[in-house]
Amino acid sequence: MKSVSTNGRSYRWMDRPLVVVCVDGSEPAYIPEAVRAGVAPFLAHLQHTGTVLDADCVIPSFTNPNNLSIVTGAPPEVHGICGNYFYDRETGSEVMMNDPKYLRCGTLLAAFADAGAKVAVVTAKDKLRTLLGHKLKGTCFSAEKADAATVALVGMPVPSVYSAELSEFVFAAGVKLMERDRPDLMYLSTTDYVQHKAAPGTPAANAFYAMMDQYLAKLDALGCSIALTADHGMNAKHRADGSPDVIYLQDVLDGWLGAGKARVILPITDPYVVHHGALGSFATVYVDADVRKKIADLPGVEVVLTREEAAQRFELPPERIGDLVVVSTRHVVIGTSKARHDLSGLKEPLRSHGGLSEQKVPLLFNRRLRGVEGRFGAHRRLRNFDIFDLALNCVEEKVAA
Ligand code: ZN
Ligand code: ZN
Repeated sequence: MKSVSTNGRSYRWMDRPLVVVCVDGSEPAYIPEAVRAGVAPFLAHLQHTGTVLDADCVIPSFTNPNNLSIVTGAPPEVHGICGNYFYDRETGSEVMMNDPKYLRCGTLLAAFADAGAKVAVVTAKDKLRTLLGHKLKGTCFSAEKADAATVALVGMPVPSVYSAELSEFVFAAGVKLMERDRPDLMYLSTTDYVQHKAAPGTPAANAFYAMMDQYLAKLDALGCSIALTADHGMNAKHRADGSPDVIYLQDVLDGWLGAGKARVILPITDPYVVHHGALGSFATVYVDADVRKKIADLPGVEVVLTREEAAQRFELPPERIGDLVVVSTRHVVIGTSKARHDLSGLKEPLRSHGGLSEQKVPLLFNRRLRGVEGRFGAHRRLRNFDIFDLALNCVEEKVAA
């Protein structure tokens, strides 16, 4: 049987179009809450006719590292993308990591396209498009920068980058592309604008999952295999009064060591700060002094690891992280200096991600799987970046409802 091998994995050729969906920031509780509210009948149905699992995402639980892991089938130590932003020691500057030059391996999307598959990728934000579309012979566009032809195809105006409609555009485009081109492989990646604002079960969250449910049902009716996961979860990161619960780590270190002795890098940093004010639960620190224990003792810090420990535990490229990696607890975030964070765009109490507390994500399929247990070794937990492997290598025929 025809197959494609890349990054140490082998994938069976699809027996029908496969649509893999990455729902940005989809904490596991969102879908069950929408199902309970009765607004997501397709997702509810998967309990009976498909496969409902959960998995662990990549740490740091941020968008780019996880999307790249999903489309390469590999952890960041292999593909190299361990944040949105990092400190490039070679140039001594802090830079965005969204340029394909930082990517160290090919994607399985490109590998399938090279093997003759018709491949389509639609992302919400443009920041992911160049990475996901790297060397891809196929269709690849973002909703944010959709051109006139795409707008005509989708039949929706280009939405604001800060809107639920940006993700709806991705789903609508996916359905239209499937109707028009019938790609063999399609990857849809949304934005977590809604998840940053609305907790599971709230009206805005349920409305988002109700919208998504309708498009997934359409793709299912078009005869697609559907697999769905998230890049990371999402948690409330604020105090009882609604103010963000922040450890301003650069200020703390400057107080201990003097200004300029330590450099705190927040890999969540990206041009879209309105979501989260660049506050997440993961930071990396470049510092010579031995402050590990002192940082670990700060209230709200979950774990502090050395570069080597973090690289091993989280499968990260060691030369792209600092001397220390700091992860905060479920409801706490880490900042640099208070003065460097513009929180004026935060209209609701902060919800964010980045830490171990946002590692659990859903892993759903509209088909029955077999051989999942032990597929990756007896004790290995399922990862969100196993999704293509499971969707292609473990499918059984769909059971009639
Ligand atoms: Zn994300
Ligand atoms: Zn986010």
